[in-house]
Formats: sequence, C-alpha cells, structure tokens
Amino acid sequence: MAMVLAQTPDQADSPAAPLQEAPSLATVALADPAGAADRGELVVHYQPTYRLPGQVFTAFEALVRWQHPVFGLIPPAHFIPAAEASGEIVRIGEVVLETSVRHLREWSDARARELPAYVSVNASAIELRHPSYVPRLRGILAAYAQPADRIQIEITESVLVDDADIMIERLHEMKALGVRLAIDDFGTGYSSLRYLATMPIDVMKIDRAFVHGMLESQRGFAVMRATTGLARALEMKVIAEGVETEREEWLLGALGVDMVQGYRYSRPLEASRATRLVMGDAGAADPLQPAYGGK
Ligand code: C2E
Ligand code: CA
Ligand code: CA
Repeated sequence: MAMVLAQTPDQADSPAAPLQEAPSLATVALADPAGAADRGELVVHYQPTYRLPGQVFTAFEALVRWQHPVFGLIPPAHFIPAAEASGEIVRIGEVVLETSVRHLREWSDARARELPAYVSVNASAIELRHPSYVPRLRGILAAYAQPADRIQIEITESVLVDDADIMIERLHEMKALGVRLAIDDFGTGYSSLRYLATMPIDVMKIDRAFVHGMLESQRGFAVMRATTGLARALEMKVIAEGVETEREEWLLGALGVDMVQGYRYSRPLEASRATRLVMGDAGAADPLQPAYGGK
C-alpha cells in the first residue's frame, strides 16, 4: 500500500526526533508490513514511565518498530495504518504482547531490582474487535505464568466511540481478566464524557499536545487542570505524555499528576537497554534534550 508520509504526526512537532527514526523515501514505499511479524522483523522498544514526585521508575510502554532488513528501523506511524487496513495489525499486536510478557518473565526470573509494575501495550480497534483478542491475551499470560495486572492495555478514545457496544464488552472482559486499562491520547479524540463515565478505565494518558499547551496560555493551563480534575473525579490515575522540560514536570507535579513519560526522562529503549534499567542501572535511561532549550 503506497502512502504519502512526509512526516509522521509524532515527528511533525518534535523538536528533536531521534535520528535513527528519521523517515526516508524508502519507508514511503514500504509502508505495508505484510509478513513482517512472521519473519521476526518486529522489535519492541520500552519507554519508561515514572511516578511523581521523585521520578521513581514504575512501568514501561511497549512501542513497536519494524526492523527492515534493508531500510533499518521504521517507526510505527509509517506502517501501523497499512497494517490496520490489511489486518496484519492483529499479528503485530500479538507479537508485541507476547514479546512484552516474555520480557516481564525474563526480568522477574533474573530477580530484577527495579521490576516494572506493568508493561503497557497499545491495542487498535481492529485488534480489539476480534473475538479472540481476550482469549489470546489470557493464553499469553498463562504461557509465561504472569499475573494479568502486569499488563496494561492502552486504547485510544476514538476506538471507544466507534463500535461502542463491542468495545465496552471487551473492556469488561479485560477487566474481569485483571489487566489494567488506560485511555490513550486523552483529549485528542471525540471523547464522550458519558461513555467515559461508564467504562472501567484505570488510567488516563493525557496527550503531549496538552502538556505543551499548558505552558503556552492560561487557557491551556486551565484545560490541563480541568482534565486532571476530571480524571481524579472518575478515580483514574493520570499519566502525562511527552514531558520534555523541567518546567512541564514542575507544573504537572503541582497539578497532582501521578506519572510522567517523555524525552525528559527517556526515549523508548531497546530491550537490552530496558533490561539494564530494570536490573538497577538508572543510567540506562536515555533522555533526549529538546532542541529549543526547554521552557
Ligand atoms: P503513542 O501510543 O501516543 O506513543 C507515544 C509516542 O510518543 C511514541 O512514538 C513515543 O516515542 C513518542 N514520545 C515519547 N515521549 C515523547 C516526548 O517527550 N516528545 C515527543 N515529541 N514524542 C515522545 P512512536 O514509538 O513513534 O509511536 C507512535 C504511535 O504508534 C504510538 O503513539 C501508538 O499510537 C502507535 N503504536 C506504537 N506501538 C504500537 C503497537 O504495538 N500497536 C499499536 N496498535 N499501535 C502502536
Ligand atoms: Ca500509547
Ligand atoms: Ca499516547
């Protein structure tokens, strides 16, 4: 599937996107990852999440990349849309989930000092719609003897609005299994507050546009304050995404945000480096300074 992708949404407003993930012309023609999962070409990177105050390492978010044999590491924004269109996303999701649970098992077998409380895995609507999604999740957890609460599933708002009935059923099945549930990119979709109130969501992840917007205007700050207040009223924990500067962290702390994730602390780490982090080497985290010097 040919796609025209000059910049990924992620890179468009990023002051310092990692070089290794820079888009190339080649990736434009290669957006369809057919068979990549079965050829073992997917790799999972782990971005640490830290608890405030005190920046205590708590968990990871699993983020997939396609290690193309010729073109190198391809970021997810370049191939997930095609994978969703072709259905390949179901296999991709399965590989990401299994890899994450396998790493959890390895870290716990190695008696890691900083064992993550959970790994958070992204799921797209097409995966969730599949009736076998929850049985597969249960099977993977059983295969590696990992408790369900070591996995968190991240679902974007738009997923919850399309097919709301199936999605609500799926969320309840996952909740019954015991996995944690997070709503991803909160604020960017067409969230219906009515739906939000009826769903068994544990965590609200606030999109980085709001984190940055908070410093741009009083209204931006008011939106952030109202959103964290909403999460608290609904008894959800809050994770702020895309935190890049000390000032952002300070304000988020003042607003009572529970956890943070972003280049200020670390970009996503390859598995070997994530392993060093969980084994107690805090220096394995890989912060990325914003090019504009921070505000
Ligand atoms: P997302 O779930 O919102 O993931 C966060 C994205 O923001 C990641 O991009 C991460 O590298 C980037 N990021 C983290 N901290 C910062 C920061 O401080 N500043 C900036 N500018 N960016 C930051 P990545 O890894 O390229 O992933 C892009 C999207 O691809 C993800 O957005 C998610 O929607 C999707 N994705 C990744 N892995 C999977 C997967 O296994 N399954 C599915 N269905 N989607 C996935
Ligand atoms: Ca996510
Ligand atoms: Ca997100």
